[in-house]
Amino acid sequence: MTEPSIQKSELKKACKNCGAELKYKPGTTTITCEYCGNQEQIALETDPIKELPLRQFLQEKGAQANSEEISILHCKNCGANQHVEENYKSLHCVYCGTPLIREDAKTEQWILPGAVLPFQLTQQEAILRFKKWVNGLWWAPNDLKKATLDPQFTKGLYLPYWTFDAQLYGQYSGARGDYYYETQSYKDSKGRRQTRRVRKTRWIPISGNISGFVDDTLINASKQHTGKVPRGVALWNLKKLQSFESSFLAGFVTEKYTIPLKDGHLEAQEEMRRIADTWARRDIGGDEQRVNTLNINLEEETFKHILLPVYISAYRYKGNEYSFFVNGENGSISGKRPYSFWKIFFAVLAGILLFGLVYLFSK
Ligand SMILES: [Zn+2]
Ligand SMILES: [Zn+2]
Repeated sequence: MTEPSIQKSELKKACKNCGAELKYKPGTTTITCEYCGNQEQIALETDPIKELPLRQFLQEKGAQANSEEISILHCKNCGANQHVEENYKSLHCVYCGTPLIREDAKTEQWILPGAVLPFQLTQQEAILRFKKWVNGLWWAPNDLKKATLDPQFTKGLYLPYWTFDAQLYGQYSGARGDYYYETQSYKDSKGRRQTRRVRKTRWIPISGNISGFVDDTLINASKQHTGKVPRGVALWNLKKLQSFESSFLAGFVTEKYTIPLKDGHLEAQEEMRRIADTWARRDIGGDEQRVNTLNINLEEETFKHILLPVYISAYRYKGNEYSFFVNGENGSISGKRPYSFWKIFFAVLAGILLFGLVYLFSK
């Protein structure tokens, strides 16, 4: 069993010159002071990112081996668990904007992240992207474009994910379908005899073994439904993962996983079953495949808890809540947006008028 880990992520990073808090500067490996400009290098781990043995962690005792306590703020409105690595004065839930009360913070255990993908985009860049996106929207109400975004509600958030590795072994039985063609004769509508080629499939029973290494099956560890990160934004280059160092969290919000390791593992097993099915089909070959039975075995299973960056902004427009997301690594953007009824109404009306005119002139 591993020795208890050092309590390191609660250390406050204070500036040597002025005592202010140091915050991680996106795209760099430094933490900086906003007041005097002092910069400090983050001590980067040079060892490869650690994978943890899964079986041991699925038992409670094992899970404590690489855990530590952090303070968590629980949103009463949407249930998000968030950890903030700074001495904030006021804070709102990153997902729904509900005010959070500092005194409500609870200390909880979490499995230490094994790796983090540090923010590459600054908050200002994220806000600029949002503004550009709003300006490029067709059919958006004019006053939305004018509406400025409150930076207080645009937060950089580290999302929790599990990744699983395993050596996969499988046995399958099924059938391979090969296409062949037959010439059939038939009568057409006028009663004449015609011929046509018809595609048929010949099925041959087949069984076999597959095996291989499954690397980094990524499983979302957040139960969050309000403001769920859209697919287009939830794509990161995992090659840029760094060994976990809490300095990367300084100045950002970190969400604690709400999907426990055990449940994440069940989902990973489903995913690995799908992978095994693809491998079996490739192994079967032919034009079509049937997989009737598939038994899989996962060995040397390892996992890690990782944090991935995203900017979230919840904005209210005429009583409705919208949210937008910017990937904190590559800047891809997505969001829910309002439509202007009048703009669409007049566009449709103009279309009808134009059509009417063309029709009249053509006569
Ligand atoms: Zn300073
Ligand atoms: Zn909330």
